[in-house]
Amino acid sequence: MNQELQPEFYQATVTCNCGNTFTVGSTRKEIHVEICSKCHPFYTGQQKTAAARGRIDRFNKKYGINAEN
Ligand SMILES: [Zn+2]
Repeated sequence: MNQELQPEFYQATVTCNCGNTFTVGSTRKEIHVEICSKCHPFYTGQQKTAAARGRIDRFNKKYGINAEN
């Protein structure tokens, strides 16, 4: 049984310098990043993001999903 060929797959908790956390599939349990989609200038500097978020919020409201979770 060679575990190197079949590493375990986790839902890794990614922690960003901005304090945001999210999960991704990874072979590591914890990941630390300096920048994420929440604080990256490419995302935060674009009004497109706000528009997209508005659409998502409306979708969530329609289906009764709490957008903050
Ligand atoms: Zn961040």
